[in-house]
Amino acid sequence: MAVAVVGGGLVGLATAWRLQRRGHQVQLIEAPDAPEELGGCPTALRGSRAALGLLMAQVFHRSSGRAWRLRQQSLALWSQWRHELAERGQSIPWRPGLLLLAADPEELQRQQRLLADPARRQLALQLWGRERLEALQPAVPAAALGGLYSAADGQLDAQAAMAALAADAAAAGLITHRERVAALESRARAPGGRWWLALEAGGGLEADWVVLSAGLGGNRLLEPLGLAGASPWRVEPVLGQALELERARDAEAGPQAAAAWTWPGAVSWRGINLVPRPDLANGRRFWLGATLEPGTSATAAALEGLRQLEGAAPEWLRQAREVRRWQGLRPRPVGRPAPLLEALAPGLLLAGGHYRNGVLLAPASAAWVAEQVEGASA
Ligand SMILES: Cc1cc2nc3c(=O)[nH]c(=O)nc-3n(C[C@H](O)[C@H](O)[C@H](O)COP(=O)(O)OP(=O)(O)OC[C@H]3O[C@@H](n4cnc5c(N)ncnc54)[C@H](O)[C@@H]3O)c2cc1C
Repeated sequence: MAVAVVGGGLVGLATAWRLQRRGHQVQLIEAPDAPEELGGCPTALRGSRAALGLLMAQVFHRSSGRAWRLRQQSLALWSQWRHELAERGQSIPWRPGLLLLAADPEELQRQQRLLADPARRQLALQLWGRERLEALQPAVPAAALGGLYSAADGQLDAQAAMAALAADAAAAGLITHRERVAALESRARAPGGRWWLALEAGGGLEADWVVLSAGLGGNRLLEPLGLAGASPWRVEPVLGQALELERARDAEAGPQAAAAWTWPGAVSWRGINLVPRPDLANGRRFWLGATLEPGTSATAAALEGLRQLEGAAPEWLRQAREVRRWQGLRPRPVGRPAPLLEALAPGLLLAGGHYRNGVLLAPASAAWVAEQVEGASA
Protein backbone atom coordinates (compact mmCIF):
# COMPACT_ATOMS: atom_id res chain seq x y z
CA MET A 1 0.00 0.00 0.00
CA ALA A 2 1.20 3.54 -0.76
CA VAL A 3 0.83 5.52 2.44
CA ALA A 4 1.53 9.21 3.04
CA VAL A 5 2.18 10.18 6.67
CA VAL A 6 1.74 13.89 7.33
CA GLY A 7 3.87 15.14 10.25
CA GLY A 8 7.31 14.01 11.37
CA GLY A 9 6.89 14.29 15.15
CA LEU A 10 7.29 11.15 17.20
CA VAL A 11 3.82 9.84 16.33
CA GLY A 12 4.31 10.33 12.57
CA LEU A 13 7.83 8.89 12.65
CA ALA A 14 6.76 5.86 14.66
CA THR A 15 3.90 5.26 12.24
CA ALA A 16 6.03 5.70 9.12
CA TRP A 17 8.69 3.38 10.58
CA ARG A 18 6.23 0.69 11.51
CA LEU A 19 4.49 0.74 8.11
CA GLN A 20 7.73 0.87 6.14
CA ARG A 21 9.19 -2.07 8.08
CA ARG A 22 5.98 -4.00 7.41
CA GLY A 23 6.51 -3.67 3.69
CA HIS A 24 4.36 -0.69 2.70
CA GLN A 25 5.61 2.12 0.48
CA VAL A 26 5.66 5.09 2.81
CA GLN A 27 6.30 8.77 2.26
CA LEU A 28 6.69 11.02 5.27
CA ILE A 29 5.96 14.71 4.79
CA GLU A 30 7.38 16.97 7.50
CA ALA A 31 7.03 20.75 7.29
CA PRO A 32 10.21 22.83 7.26
CA ASP A 33 10.85 24.81 10.43
CA ALA A 34 8.67 27.90 10.70
CA PRO A 35 9.69 30.04 13.70
CA GLU A 36 6.42 32.01 13.57
CA GLU A 37 4.51 28.80 14.38
CA LEU A 38 6.43 28.63 17.62
CA GLY A 39 5.53 32.21 18.47
CA GLY A 40 8.99 33.42 17.42
CA CYS A 41 10.28 32.32 20.84
CA PRO A 42 13.94 31.20 20.72
CA THR A 43 13.42 28.51 23.39
CA ALA A 44 10.34 27.01 21.71
CA LEU A 45 10.62 23.50 20.31
CA ARG A 46 8.19 21.49 18.22
CA GLY A 47 5.95 19.15 20.26
CA SER A 48 7.96 15.93 20.35
CA ARG A 49 11.28 17.76 20.68
CA ALA A 50 10.10 19.40 23.91
CA ALA A 51 9.02 16.18 25.62
CA LEU A 52 10.64 14.91 28.80
CA GLY A 53 9.99 11.36 27.62
CA LEU A 54 8.26 9.93 30.67
CA LEU A 55 6.33 6.75 30.05
CA MET A 56 3.58 6.60 32.69
CA ALA A 57 1.64 3.46 31.93
CA GLN A 58 1.44 1.24 35.00
CA VAL A 59 0.84 4.13 37.43
CA PHE A 60 -2.09 5.40 35.33
CA HIS A 61 -5.05 6.27 37.56
CA ARG A 62 -7.54 3.91 35.86
CA SER A 63 -7.20 0.14 35.45
CA SER A 64 -9.53 -0.43 32.52
CA GLY A 65 -10.82 1.25 29.37
CA ARG A 66 -9.20 2.41 26.16
CA ALA A 67 -6.59 4.74 27.70
CA TRP A 68 -5.39 2.02 30.07
CA ARG A 69 -5.14 -0.55 27.28
CA LEU A 70 -3.29 1.81 24.93
CA ARG A 71 -0.79 2.67 27.66
CA GLN A 72 -0.05 -0.97 28.51
CA GLN A 73 0.23 -1.91 24.85
CA SER A 74 2.55 1.02 24.17
CA LEU A 75 4.85 0.32 27.11
CA ALA A 76 5.26 -3.28 25.91
CA LEU A 77 5.82 -2.15 22.31
CA TRP A 78 8.49 0.38 23.31
CA SER A 79 10.42 -2.45 24.92
CA GLN A 80 10.10 -4.61 21.78
CA TRP A 81 10.95 -1.72 19.49
CA ARG A 82 14.06 -0.76 21.44
CA HIS A 83 15.34 -4.32 21.16
CA GLU A 84 14.48 -4.57 17.48
CA LEU A 85 16.20 -1.26 16.73
CA ALA A 86 19.24 -2.17 18.84
CA GLU A 87 19.74 -5.29 16.71
CA ARG A 88 20.16 -2.98 13.72
CA GLY A 89 22.52 -0.64 15.58
CA GLN A 90 20.02 2.07 16.65
CA SER A 91 19.96 2.68 20.38
CA ILE A 92 17.35 4.55 22.40
CA PRO A 93 18.42 5.38 25.95
CA TRP A 94 15.90 4.16 28.52
CA ARG A 95 16.01 4.89 32.25
CA PRO A 96 13.60 2.61 34.10
CA GLY A 97 11.77 3.48 37.30
CA LEU A 98 9.17 6.05 38.30
CA LEU A 99 8.14 7.15 41.79
CA LEU A 100 4.84 8.99 42.08
CA LEU A 101 4.83 10.87 45.38
CA ALA A 102 1.61 11.27 47.37
CA ALA A 103 1.24 14.93 48.28
CA ASP A 104 -1.93 14.56 50.39
CA PRO A 105 -3.98 11.85 52.15
CA GLU A 106 -6.39 11.51 49.19
CA GLU A 107 -3.50 10.77 46.84
CA LEU A 108 -2.09 8.24 49.30
CA GLN A 109 -5.46 6.45 49.51
CA ARG A 110 -5.76 6.48 45.75
CA GLN A 111 -2.34 4.84 45.46
CA GLN A 112 -3.33 2.20 48.02
CA ARG A 113 -6.51 1.45 46.06
CA LEU A 114 -4.56 1.19 42.82
CA LEU A 115 -2.21 -1.36 44.28
CA ALA A 116 -5.10 -3.44 45.64
CA ASP A 117 -6.77 -3.52 42.21
CA PRO A 118 -6.74 -7.09 40.80
CA ALA A 119 -5.97 -5.68 37.30
CA ARG A 120 -2.53 -4.63 38.61
CA ARG A 121 -1.62 -7.81 40.51
CA GLN A 122 0.93 -8.85 37.90
CA LEU A 123 2.60 -5.45 37.72
CA ALA A 124 5.87 -4.49 39.40
CA LEU A 125 4.33 -1.82 41.66
CA GLN A 126 5.19 -1.04 45.29
CA LEU A 127 3.99 1.42 47.93
CA TRP A 128 6.83 3.28 49.59
CA GLY A 129 6.41 4.65 53.11
CA ARG A 130 7.89 7.81 54.57
CA GLU A 131 11.00 6.08 56.01
CA ARG A 132 11.93 4.87 52.55
CA LEU A 133 11.40 8.33 51.08
CA GLU A 134 13.45 9.96 53.83
CA ALA A 135 16.43 7.77 52.93
CA LEU A 136 16.54 9.10 49.36
CA GLN A 137 19.40 11.32 48.20
CA PRO A 138 18.88 14.14 47.33
CA ALA A 139 15.77 14.77 49.45
CA VAL A 140 12.31 14.57 47.92
CA PRO A 141 9.70 17.10 49.15
CA ALA A 142 9.38 16.79 52.93
CA ALA A 143 5.59 16.96 52.63
CA ALA A 144 5.43 13.66 50.69
CA LEU A 145 3.29 11.15 52.62
CA GLY A 146 4.34 8.11 50.62
CA GLY A 147 4.76 7.03 47.04
CA LEU A 148 3.80 4.54 44.36
CA TYR A 149 6.87 3.05 42.71
CA SER A 150 6.76 1.44 39.29
CA ALA A 151 9.84 -0.41 38.06
CA ALA A 152 8.43 -0.82 34.54
CA ASP A 153 7.57 2.83 33.85
CA GLY A 154 10.42 5.27 33.31
CA GLN A 155 11.97 7.75 30.92
CA LEU A 156 12.86 7.34 27.28
CA ASP A 157 15.04 9.73 25.29
CA ALA A 158 12.45 11.05 22.83
CA GLN A 159 14.98 12.81 20.60
CA ALA A 160 17.12 9.69 20.32
CA ALA A 161 13.97 7.69 19.58
CA MET A 162 13.09 10.03 16.71
CA ALA A 163 16.60 9.81 15.29
CA ALA A 164 16.64 6.01 15.59
CA LEU A 165 13.23 5.55 13.94
CA ALA A 166 14.11 7.97 11.13
CA ALA A 167 17.44 6.27 10.39
CA ASP A 168 16.03 2.74 10.52
CA ALA A 169 13.03 3.65 8.38
CA ALA A 170 15.28 5.38 5.83
CA ALA A 171 17.43 2.22 5.65
CA ALA A 172 14.25 0.31 4.81
CA GLY A 173 13.35 2.76 2.02
CA LEU A 174 11.22 5.45 3.68
CA ILE A 175 11.06 8.60 1.55
CA THR A 176 10.95 11.85 3.52
CA HIS A 177 9.85 15.18 2.04
CA ARG A 178 10.74 18.40 3.78
CA GLU A 179 7.53 20.09 2.64
CA ARG A 180 4.36 21.48 4.12
CA VAL A 181 1.09 19.89 3.05
CA ALA A 182 -1.31 22.68 2.08
CA ALA A 183 -4.44 20.63 1.43
CA LEU A 184 -5.82 17.12 1.25
CA GLU A 185 -8.16 16.16 -1.59
CA SER A 186 -10.10 12.98 -1.99
CA ARG A 187 -9.75 11.58 -5.54
CA ALA A 188 -11.67 8.42 -5.08
CA ARG A 189 -12.09 7.80 -8.78
CA ALA A 190 -8.66 8.83 -10.02
CA PRO A 191 -6.39 6.00 -11.11
CA GLY A 192 -3.33 5.34 -8.98
CA GLY A 193 -4.47 6.83 -5.70
CA ARG A 194 -7.35 7.88 -3.55
CA TRP A 195 -5.82 10.96 -1.97
CA TRP A 196 -3.98 13.93 -3.36
CA LEU A 197 -1.72 15.89 -1.02
CA ALA A 198 -1.16 19.39 -2.35
CA LEU A 199 2.18 20.80 -1.20
CA GLU A 200 2.56 24.43 -0.20
CA ALA A 201 5.60 24.85 -2.44
CA GLY A 202 3.64 23.55 -5.45
CA GLY A 203 2.93 20.10 -6.86
CA GLY A 204 1.84 17.24 -4.71
CA LEU A 205 1.74 13.50 -4.25
CA GLU A 206 -0.78 10.71 -4.36
CA ALA A 207 -1.42 7.95 -1.90
CA ASP A 208 -3.89 5.16 -1.16
CA TRP A 209 -3.82 6.14 2.48
CA VAL A 210 -3.17 9.38 4.32
CA VAL A 211 -2.22 9.30 7.99
CA LEU A 212 -2.63 12.69 9.59
CA SER A 213 -0.22 13.01 12.51
CA ALA A 214 0.42 16.72 12.18
CA GLY A 215 -0.19 17.62 15.84
CA LEU A 216 -1.63 21.13 16.03
CA GLY A 217 -1.26 21.42 12.23
CA GLY A 218 -4.10 18.92 11.76
CA ASN A 219 -6.93 21.45 12.24
CA ARG A 220 -5.89 23.40 9.17
CA LEU A 221 -5.94 20.33 6.93
CA LEU A 222 -9.18 18.90 8.29
CA GLU A 223 -11.28 22.07 8.32
CA PRO A 224 -11.70 22.35 4.51
CA LEU A 225 -12.79 18.69 4.42
CA GLY A 226 -15.72 19.58 6.67
CA LEU A 227 -14.39 17.29 9.39
CA ALA A 228 -13.05 19.82 11.88
CA GLY A 229 -14.18 23.35 12.69
CA ALA A 230 -16.85 22.65 15.27
CA SER A 231 -16.28 18.95 14.72
CA PRO A 232 -14.93 16.49 17.28
CA TRP A 233 -11.46 16.32 15.77
CA ARG A 234 -10.21 19.74 16.71
CA VAL A 235 -7.14 20.08 18.91
CA GLU A 236 -6.04 23.08 20.95
CA PRO A 237 -2.59 24.01 22.26
CA VAL A 238 -1.50 23.60 25.87
CA LEU A 239 1.93 25.06 26.41
CA GLY A 240 4.55 23.38 28.59
CA GLN A 241 7.75 24.93 29.95
CA ALA A 242 10.64 22.82 31.21
CA LEU A 243 14.06 23.37 32.73
CA GLU A 244 17.44 21.69 32.76
CA LEU A 245 19.05 22.39 36.14
CA GLU A 246 22.37 21.55 37.73
CA ARG A 247 22.84 20.66 41.38
CA ALA A 248 25.44 22.66 43.26
CA ARG A 249 28.77 20.90 43.78
CA ASP A 250 29.45 19.38 47.13
CA ALA A 251 32.47 21.47 48.24
CA GLU A 252 33.89 18.56 50.29
CA ALA A 253 33.77 16.11 47.40
CA GLY A 254 35.71 18.21 44.87
CA PRO A 255 34.82 19.43 41.40
CA GLN A 256 35.00 16.06 39.60
CA ALA A 257 32.88 14.11 42.08
CA ALA A 258 29.73 12.54 40.69
CA ALA A 259 26.47 13.70 42.24
CA ALA A 260 24.78 11.07 44.39
CA TRP A 261 21.25 10.10 43.33
CA THR A 262 19.71 7.19 45.16
CA TRP A 263 16.37 7.81 43.49
CA PRO A 264 14.83 4.74 41.86
CA GLY A 265 14.27 6.67 38.61
CA ALA A 266 12.23 9.77 37.81
CA VAL A 267 10.11 11.31 40.55
CA SER A 268 6.73 12.96 40.12
CA TRP A 269 5.21 15.50 42.53
CA ARG A 270 1.72 16.91 41.90
CA GLY A 271 2.15 16.35 38.16
CA ILE A 272 5.62 17.93 38.03
CA ASN A 273 8.38 15.56 36.98
CA LEU A 274 12.00 15.52 38.11
CA VAL A 275 14.20 13.49 35.81
CA PRO A 276 17.81 12.81 36.87
CA ARG A 277 20.23 12.85 33.95
CA PRO A 278 23.15 10.64 35.00
CA ASP A 279 24.67 11.17 31.55
CA LEU A 280 25.12 14.94 31.99
CA ALA A 281 27.78 16.90 33.98
CA ASN A 282 28.84 14.01 36.22
CA GLY A 283 25.23 13.29 37.03
CA ARG A 284 24.57 16.72 38.49
CA ARG A 285 21.97 17.72 35.91
CA PHE A 286 18.28 16.97 35.90
CA TRP A 287 15.15 17.99 34.04
CA LEU A 288 12.16 19.60 35.67
CA GLY A 289 8.86 19.92 33.85
CA ALA A 290 6.45 20.74 32.69
CA THR A 291 3.95 23.57 33.17
CA LEU A 292 0.38 23.19 31.90
CA GLU A 293 -0.64 26.51 30.31
CA PRO A 294 -3.67 26.50 28.00
CA GLY A 295 -2.89 28.49 24.85
CA THR A 296 0.42 29.47 23.28
CA SER A 297 1.82 32.03 25.75
CA ALA A 298 4.36 31.14 28.42
CA THR A 299 4.09 32.95 31.74
CA ALA A 300 6.86 33.71 34.23
CA ALA A 301 4.52 32.81 37.11
CA ALA A 302 3.97 29.27 35.81
CA LEU A 303 7.72 28.79 35.38
CA GLU A 304 8.34 30.03 38.90
CA GLY A 305 5.70 27.63 40.27
CA LEU A 306 7.51 24.81 38.50
CA ARG A 307 10.91 25.93 39.77
CA GLN A 308 9.57 26.02 43.35
CA LEU A 309 7.63 22.74 43.01
CA GLU A 310 4.55 24.75 43.94
CA GLY A 311 6.17 25.68 47.28
CA ALA A 312 7.52 22.21 48.14
CA ALA A 313 11.05 22.45 46.62
CA PRO A 314 13.76 21.10 48.93
CA GLU A 315 16.82 23.28 49.55
CA TRP A 316 19.08 21.54 46.98
CA LEU A 317 16.46 22.15 44.29
CA ARG A 318 16.10 25.82 45.16
CA GLN A 319 19.90 26.14 44.97
CA ALA A 320 20.21 24.41 41.59
CA ARG A 321 21.51 26.48 38.69
CA GLU A 322 19.45 26.87 35.53
CA VAL A 323 21.33 25.50 32.51
CA ARG A 324 18.62 25.84 29.91
CA ARG A 325 14.90 26.28 29.53
CA TRP A 326 12.55 25.34 26.76
CA GLN A 327 8.88 25.19 25.90
CA GLY A 328 6.60 23.32 23.54
CA LEU A 329 2.95 22.92 22.64
CA ARG A 330 0.88 19.83 23.30
CA PRO A 331 -2.13 19.07 21.07
CA ARG A 332 -5.18 18.54 23.32
CA PRO A 333 -8.44 17.28 21.81
CA VAL A 334 -11.39 19.61 22.40
CA GLY A 335 -14.07 17.81 24.41
CA ARG A 336 -12.69 14.33 23.72
CA PRO A 337 -10.25 12.04 25.47
CA ALA A 338 -6.72 11.86 24.10
CA PRO A 339 -5.53 10.46 21.77
CA LEU A 340 -7.60 10.79 18.60
CA LEU A 341 -7.24 7.57 16.63
CA GLU A 342 -9.97 7.74 14.04
CA ALA A 343 -10.78 6.52 10.54
CA LEU A 344 -12.25 9.78 9.19
CA ALA A 345 -13.02 8.71 5.63
CA PRO A 346 -11.98 5.87 3.33
CA GLY A 347 -8.18 6.02 3.23
CA LEU A 348 -7.91 8.89 5.74
CA LEU A 349 -6.69 8.14 9.26
CA LEU A 350 -6.17 10.58 12.10
CA ALA A 351 -3.47 9.75 14.66
CA GLY A 352 -3.29 12.91 16.72
CA GLY A 353 -4.35 14.75 19.85
CA HIS A 354 -1.85 12.92 22.05
CA TYR A 355 -1.75 15.82 24.48
CA ARG A 356 0.56 14.90 27.42
CA ASN A 357 1.44 11.36 26.36
CA GLY A 358 2.57 11.32 22.75
CA VAL A 359 5.90 9.74 23.58
CA LEU A 360 4.27 6.98 25.56
CA LEU A 361 1.46 6.39 23.06
CA ALA A 362 3.39 6.60 19.77
CA PRO A 363 3.85 2.81 19.40
CA ALA A 364 0.20 1.93 20.16
CA SER A 365 -0.90 4.64 17.72
CA ALA A 366 1.38 3.29 15.00
CA ALA A 367 0.07 -0.23 15.64
CA TRP A 368 -3.51 1.02 15.34
CA VAL A 369 -2.71 2.68 11.98
CA ALA A 370 -1.07 -0.52 10.68
CA GLU A 371 -4.16 -2.53 11.68
CA GLN A 372 -6.43 -0.13 9.78
CA VAL A 373 -4.32 -0.20 6.63
CA GLU A 374 -3.77 -3.94 6.67
CA GLY A 375 -7.28 -4.83 7.83
CA ALA A 376 -8.78 -2.86 4.97
CA SER A 377 -6.61 -4.54 2.35
CA ALA A 378 -6.98 -8.09 3.73
C1 LIG B 1 7.21 20.34 27.72
C2 LIG B 1 6.55 19.06 27.27
C3 LIG B 1 6.83 17.88 27.96
C4 LIG B 1 6.26 16.69 27.53
N1 LIG B 1 6.57 15.53 28.20
C5 LIG B 1 6.05 14.35 27.78
C6 LIG B 1 6.39 13.16 28.45
O1 LIG B 1 7.16 13.16 29.42
N2 LIG B 1 5.85 11.99 28.00
C7 LIG B 1 5.00 11.95 26.93
O2 LIG B 1 4.55 10.85 26.56
N3 LIG B 1 4.66 13.08 26.26
C8 LIG B 1 5.15 14.28 26.69
N4 LIG B 1 4.78 15.43 26.06
C9 LIG B 1 3.76 15.38 25.01
C10 LIG B 1 4.33 14.97 23.70
O3 LIG B 1 5.44 15.79 23.40
C11 LIG B 1 3.27 15.12 22.60
O4 LIG B 1 2.12 14.39 22.94
C12 LIG B 1 3.83 14.56 21.30
O5 LIG B 1 4.99 15.27 20.96
C13 LIG B 1 2.86 14.64 20.16
O6 LIG B 1 3.56 14.14 19.04
P1 LIG B 1 3.05 14.35 17.56
O7 LIG B 1 3.97 13.61 16.67
O8 LIG B 1 1.59 14.02 17.50
O9 LIG B 1 3.10 15.92 17.35
P2 LIG B 1 4.33 16.88 17.01
O10 LIG B 1 5.56 16.46 17.70
O11 LIG B 1 3.82 18.26 17.25
O12 LIG B 1 4.55 16.65 15.48
C14 LIG B 1 3.67 17.12 14.50
C15 LIG B 1 4.52 17.45 13.29
O13 LIG B 1 3.66 17.73 12.20
C16 LIG B 1 4.29 18.69 11.41
N5 LIG B 1 3.24 19.36 10.61
C17 LIG B 1 2.22 20.12 11.05
N6 LIG B 1 1.47 20.55 10.01
C18 LIG B 1 2.05 20.05 8.88
C19 LIG B 1 1.74 20.15 7.50
N7 LIG B 1 0.68 20.83 7.06
N8 LIG B 1 2.55 19.50 6.61
C20 LIG B 1 3.62 18.78 7.05
N9 LIG B 1 3.95 18.65 8.36
C21 LIG B 1 3.16 19.28 9.26
C22 LIG B 1 4.96 19.63 12.40
O14 LIG B 1 6.05 20.26 11.77
C23 LIG B 1 5.39 18.68 13.50
O15 LIG B 1 6.74 18.29 13.39
C24 LIG B 1 5.36 16.66 26.43
C25 LIG B 1 5.10 17.84 25.75
C26 LIG B 1 5.67 19.03 26.15
C27 LIG B 1 5.38 20.28 25.38
